[in-house]
Amino acid sequence: MARDERGVTPQSEDFSAWYNELVFKAELVDRGPVKGTMVIRPYGYRLWELLQADLDERIKETGHQNAYFPLLIPESYLKREAEHVDGFAPELAVVTHAGGKELEEKLIVRPTSETIIGEMMSKWISSHRDLPMLLNQWANVVRWEMRPRMFLRTTEFLWQEGHTFHESRAEAVEEVERMLDCYRELAEEWLCIPVVPGRKTESEKFAGAEYTLSIEAMMSDGWALQAGTSHQLGQNFTRAYGISYSDRENALQHPFQTSWGLSTRIIGGVIMAHGDDSGLVMPPRVAPVQVVVVPVTRSNDAEGAAAVEAACARIEAGAGEVRLRVDRREGIRPGEKYAHWELRGVPLRVTVGARDLAAGAVTLTRRVDGESWTEPLEGVAGRLPALLEEAHARTRARAETMLRERTVEVSSLEELGRAFAGEPVFANAPFCERPGCEEAVKAAAHALTVRVLRRDRSGEQGRCLACGEPSSEVALIARAY
Ligand SMILES: [Zn+2]
Repeated sequence: MARDERGVTPQSEDFSAWYNELVFKAELVDRGPVKGTMVIRPYGYRLWELLQADLDERIKETGHQNAYFPLLIPESYLKREAEHVDGFAPELAVVTHAGGKELEEKLIVRPTSETIIGEMMSKWISSHRDLPMLLNQWANVVRWEMRPRMFLRTTEFLWQEGHTFHESRAEAVEEVERMLDCYRELAEEWLCIPVVPGRKTESEKFAGAEYTLSIEAMMSDGWALQAGTSHQLGQNFTRAYGISYSDRENALQHPFQTSWGLSTRIIGGVIMAHGDDSGLVMPPRVAPVQVVVVPVTRSNDAEGAAAVEAACARIEAGAGEVRLRVDRREGIRPGEKYAHWELRGVPLRVTVGARDLAAGAVTLTRRVDGESWTEPLEGVAGRLPALLEEAHARTRARAETMLRERTVEVSSLEELGRAFAGEPVFANAPFCERPGCEEAVKAAAHALTVRVLRRDRSGEQGRCLACGEPSSEVALIARAY
């Protein structure tokens, strides 16, 4: 099919062009008028709603309550935690005028909400009986973006930010792990994206945190995407914001705090982890349209057309909870309809044609691997949930195979450099965490970074790939979005 009908540069030809064209052609987004802003179109927003609904349920099941804090934050709030304000200063949008005059105190459009939530907590928390305080908010935030890219880096984006306060460090440590695990489950079980959980190095942690955990996902070009983060803030902010409580012995204490977030960036991950030359490949559980039914009729066969329409209506009526659409658009050839829905990544296509129907059958085509087969029309609607689960399993298995096949073990900077001479990979290496060694890793090949110190291999004894000194962590090294 000609490129203008297909719509996008093949992924295999130019991954970056493929992505940049696909987000618009698949009608996920449009550009906003202000640089770096995006309009999330209905197809993209439905995807967000579906994964948001799952994550929201996990957040509530783990004991958190949703709340909402204001968009505008007094500038003085940000200045109370020095490391925090330094980290965010270059990305802030500042309101200087409102109500027709210059403001006495400038207002910050929230880049994140630790400061305003900290201020409110100093009022809400006074006794150990107020703890743990387990809050989450769904919101938009603004971080001025000089090099925008749809979903991956936009000036304004949507996310959830969890904020919790605890009596002990041990409880906060547990919370940070628990929520990272929620993100891992969302990524793996709902989005079919296998991830590597781990701890960020000092230079990559959240501004003001004691440490940051993240999940790292492999995109199909071999680059990594940080897909969710969970921060142990210790008592840094609770001291700075004067949050204290009287403990069980009636002594005044600062609570331990965590925060954790997952944003619309994850949609970029869905696109890049699964998409192919023909467009998106939606993971079935979050696909806005899970099944598309395409009627195939001949213009001179009115009787056949009536039978085809009756079969389509029957499938539609029996679909139940399945998000199914019958493409009845007139004047568009079936081939164009196939390409239209392939580009949008619909997991299953049911083709209903007069010839198949004469034999009591319809043709199914699975998006993830292009496999086609016939199914009896009788009861096909009822089998769709199982067929979608099969598509889910194949989507996940394919991503897992890619991650496994493109992960390598290296033990020296030379090996690291060689590993990145060709197609990008995920490289595991023993690592001592010294800043000098991190710099050496970054310099070993173009655009390398230490993504995380792997959770699953923490404590593994080895010798740092850069300095050769004893190490007890394994770094995941990759190029990253
Ligand atoms: Zn070292």
